[in-house]
Amino acid sequence: MKSFPLFKLTDLPLLPVAGSWVDATPYALMFLLLLGAALAATRLRGRARQTVRRIVQAISAFVFIIFLHRCICMLRGWAFAMSLMGRNNVLAFGHACMFVVIIAIGMAFGRFFCGWICPLHLIQEGIAGLYHRRLGLASPRLRRVAGYLLAAGITVLLVWLAYLVRPGARFFSENVAAVWGLALLALIFFVVAHERWDARAKKLKYLSLAAWLALSLAGVFVTNPWCVLYGDELDYSSLVALLAVVSGGAVISLAWCRYLCPAGATLAVAAEVAALRVAAPGNCRCCGRCDLVCPTGALKEGNIDQSSCTYCGRCLEHCGFQWVWVRGADSSPGEVEQHA
Ligand code: SF4
Ligand code: SF4
Ligand code: SF4
Repeated sequence: MKSFPLFKLTDLPLLPVAGSWVDATPYALMFLLLLGAALAATRLRGRARQTVRRIVQAISAFVFIIFLHRCICMLRGWAFAMSLMGRNNVLAFGHACMFVVIIAIGMAFGRFFCGWICPLHLIQEGIAGLYHRRLGLASPRLRRVAGYLLAAGITVLLVWLAYLVRPGARFFSENVAAVWGLALLALIFFVVAHERWDARAKKLKYLSLAAWLALSLAGVFVTNPWCVLYGDELDYSSLVALLAVVSGGAVISLAWCRYLCPAGATLAVAAEVAALRVAAPGNCRCCGRCDLVCPTGALKEGNIDQSSCTYCGRCLEHCGFQWVWVRGADSSPGEVEQHA
């Protein structure tokens, strides 16, 4: 790995905690971004809401990709934190913080972080926006072309990974992210051919999360497609995974977020008890027109898959969808406070 400092404007903690490298800046900025996003999401409507969402996403991308030197990894951080606890509590706190913050956000606001803050969502939405429609493939001809391109991408990745296998090399440890990228392309190749498997494939994100946690516990330095964006080093495996996510997202909109993102899976679990939700209109005729506006495939004829909804708010501009505050885990639609 070699240094890639051009991506980072600062290389020191701006608000160091107890004189350590633990930086309070990401948390302060995350709080401000979330606050602005929450206000915009609930107070604005129509195009204004989506415009502010884009602005918040763009600021978030600038802050976490270009401005701050510290990455905001929430996945392996907790494993580091556990290993440091009792020996260096400040560093343990620094590693655990993002995981705790994201889980807390998920339990209150579902996958709001995904739709409003995560830079990878913005990047994939930009790609999907080029021609997204349901799974991004309107015609059988497009589907065939996508299949050929995916097969070519999978072959290139396999050849590249085979080339990296050498005696004595820690192949898997050093290429975890690329292996996940390969799995994503193979999965998309399958779902493109069998569109009805989209819903089942979404469950694989939990398997992805379990594998990620197991590898972290086993001491493997698990990397992912964001590492090359958030970190300040050029990790080729992560770069390849990012390319797979971006190209896969052109075939199936937000494919990484739908099927394999372990952070998304963590938030999806937390989202099951979320207080803020999107609710379909009570007089739904199941016409299915709203399915087309949802970039994650969370909408099916007026039914919302809470674990897949990234709270992007696009459906709120259609047919009477609205935010609801659920008062208790067992609340029925009649036990909610509604906000347009
Ligand atoms: S699913 Fe993962 S990549 Fe997608 S928006 Fe959420 S955290 Fe970001
Ligand atoms: S909520 Fe969706 S499926 Fe139901 S009537 Fe409106 S557009 Fe049709
Ligand atoms: S259900 Fe609505 S808010 Fe949720 S991802 Fe789909 S369009 Fe966005």
